[in-house]
Amino acid sequence: MNYNLVLEEIQKEIQPLLKVGKVADYIPALKNVKKEQFVMCLHLLDGTTYTIGNVENKFSIQSISKVFTFTKALEIYGKELYKNVGHEPSGNAFNSLVQLEHENGIPRNPFINAGAIVITDLLRSAYKNNSFDKILDFIQEIADNKNISYDKEVYCSELESGYRNFALINMMKSFNNISNNVDDVIETYFKHCSISMSTRELSRAMLFLANQGTDPLTKKVFVSSSKAKRINALMLTCGHYDASGDFAFHVGLPGKSGVGGGIVAIIPNLMSICVYSPGLNAQGNSLVGTKALELFTSKTGLSIF
Ligand code: GLU
Repeated sequence: MNYNLVLEEIQKEIQPLLKVGKVADYIPALKNVKKEQFVMCLHLLDGTTYTIGNVENKFSIQSISKVFTFTKALEIYGKELYKNVGHEPSGNAFNSLVQLEHENGIPRNPFINAGAIVITDLLRSAYKNNSFDKILDFIQEIADNKNISYDKEVYCSELESGYRNFALINMMKSFNNISNNVDDVIETYFKHCSISMSTRELSRAMLFLANQGTDPLTKKVFVSSSKAKRINALMLTCGHYDASGDFAFHVGLPGKSGVGGGIVAIIPNLMSICVYSPGLNAQGNSLVGTKALELFTSKTGLSIF
């Protein structure tokens, strides 16, 4: 397969869409990000990469961090975790309060904001005060890269303006689904959302999910193959908020988006992919990123179906 050619074709075809999306301006620190960017990195299991655009450029990974925190929490708590968070698509916006009240403070899945906040609370129970350091250590280990850190400006911006996330955590606390101090948990949540990584680093970090939970390069086992299956299944069904069905329908791969404009996707036993383009669609997913992945699976015939 001539992946370089495929990437070049995709880059040409997405050009008219680069102006269409809207950057995540509800996070003030992200509102000046240049919209017309397109970067894509394919990472094969043997470490070979195929790239287009500036794959070293770092961006805010936002909700993609939820794949890492869920992985760690699943490793620590196993099935017990599903007492606090479900594994069903929500069909609602990523930061919706409505369903949460109706369902007694138990979020539908670990990839919507409420669910990820519950996961952060569980990690805080396990790690106490150095929970963010432990999360960052884990991401550095999974990415095999000690240079990954968070962006303080994005973190402070979310802390100052994240009223909805404060509302979500307080509502869950009222239902006894948050054990720790709400400020401590939300600070840890905002910190892991504000981690910066490049497309190359993110696609590298996701390789373990394309290889049944084991890093194919370092051979470190991060989760069992059965847990890797669950993580991929949740990415397929819940990785794009209320556009998860649409993403599965058009792309046909497990994936996870973040409002920073990144999307990661997994082709089991073959590669992990990261695409970055900060203009978002109405559901908060990268508009061009989604289209690029659709074009990729259509042109190559590579999908899980
Ligand atoms: N930090 C963002 C928020 O809580 C994450 C949302 C996302 O990337 O989808 O609003």
